[in-house]
Amino acid sequence: MQPKQNILHLPVYQPGKPISEVKRELGLTDVIKLASNENPFGCSPKAKEAIVSLLDQVSIYPDGGAVDLTHAVAEHYGVKPNQIIFGAGSDEVILMIARAFLTPNDETISAFPTFPQYKHNAEIEGATFIEVPVDENGKHDLKAMLAKVNERTKIVWICNPNNPTGTMLSEREIVSFIESVPNHVMVVLDEAYAEYTVNEEYPDSISLLNKYKNIVVLRTFSKIYGLASLRIGFGIGHPDVVRSINQVREPFNTTSFAQKAGLAALQDHEFIRTCREANAAGIRQVTAELDKLGLPYFEAHGNFIMIDVKRPGQAVFQGLLQRGIIVRHDPGWGYPTKIRVTVGSEEQNRKFLEALEQVLSEVAVS
Ligand SMILES: *Cc1c(COP(=O)(O)O)cnc(C)c1O
Repeated sequence: MQPKQNILHLPVYQPGKPISEVKRELGLTDVIKLASNENPFGCSPKAKEAIVSLLDQVSIYPDGGAVDLTHAVAEHYGVKPNQIIFGAGSDEVILMIARAFLTPNDETISAFPTFPQYKHNAEIEGATFIEVPVDENGKHDLKAMLAKVNERTKIVWICNPNNPTGTMLSEREIVSFIESVPNHVMVVLDEAYAEYTVNEEYPDSISLLNKYKNIVVLRTFSKIYGLASLRIGFGIGHPDVVRSINQVREPFNTTSFAQKAGLAALQDHEFIRTCREANAAGIRQVTAELDKLGLPYFEAHGNFIMIDVKRPGQAVFQGLLQRGIIVRHDPGWGYPTKIRVTVGSEEQNRKFLEALEQVLSEVAVS
């Protein structure tokens, strides 16, 4: 049997190590995972109640159209229900956009490094993927990305804040980019960390939808809403675009649990506000210490910080792991001396910083 030629080179996704595995392998009892940008405070208690309330209905198929949640999200953002599409995480929305729009004749563009799923799904569809390096501050180089746009370009993926660098593009920068690309190009604004941003210049992308028909905004319940395990995220765009994405959607792609928990999570404004503020305080806590240690980092606008440890990132990752702290280092980023750490609770951050200081004294500077 022969798989499709264009998937032969694709790597199988390597997730961050699960806590249970690290505990077992290293014989540790206290392990902190700061590797996958999960919410250290869990999810809203209202979302938990919603899940429990459905336990007797496991045998019933979910509402494939996610009608209740669609209406709640539409109201929350002031858009029409036919502008919203749900996926099993925004990962699946990325997959569906690629499936609905990309062909082997198309080109598609992203920053590098950025969220890997744009490239992964584009290559499955056989499209040509063009990666444009971020600048020295870890920010999208929109000018260089624009220079790559041509008549074959179908989609430009913009991750804002960018995972893994954490940097942010302002509304002015986003608008100027959208104004410069031709109308046949779809601009996907992946805003998985939008709710964490506290900078006034962060774009109000959903209001831009009224003016620009060619943008799709991606949001997720996996990050600040704390529902990563339930797998639910969504895209907001022009009704015609959303209809095309809907045509390739699997009939029951989001579960009843995810829909009902998402609805409850969306309405718990207090939980979200608390998490946003704790995260901003956590960024201040961690970066103040990094300044003392003399370690550079990119401006952090999400719930994670990319740190230059000035030593082999893999060795620092391993040293932290030995001390029960799981962070992320990916050789594929092209940053051999950087690690990405999720902002945790105050105590988790303190333990991370203590462990980091010890590891720095053990690993030789590159
Ligand atoms: C985490 C993340 C997502 C998707 O998460 P889902 O769990 O699939 O919703 C999408 N984009 C970026 C940039 C992310 O970091």
